Amino acid sequence: MAAPTLSPGKPCPLCGKPADDAFKPFCSKRCADVDLHRWLAGVYAVPVKETEDEDGEQVRDAEEKPEN
Ligand SMILES: [Zn+2]
Repeated sequence: MAAPTLSPGKPCPLCGKPADDAFKPFCSKRCADVDLHRWLAGVYAVPVKETEDEDGEQVRDAEEKPEN
């Protein structure tokens, strides 16, 4: 029971330092960025279907229906 009187809330989930109001729930922009990159990395880590060429633009839209 050695909790400090000034409880800033939950500590930074990355380094454990007291979270900063400007970067909740992190202690700094650095930790926020790290977490953001981790999150993005996790998102983009999902296998993506290679349906089109990398250098091919999406010019084919499903709007064009030669259905008359
Ligand atoms: Zn931190």
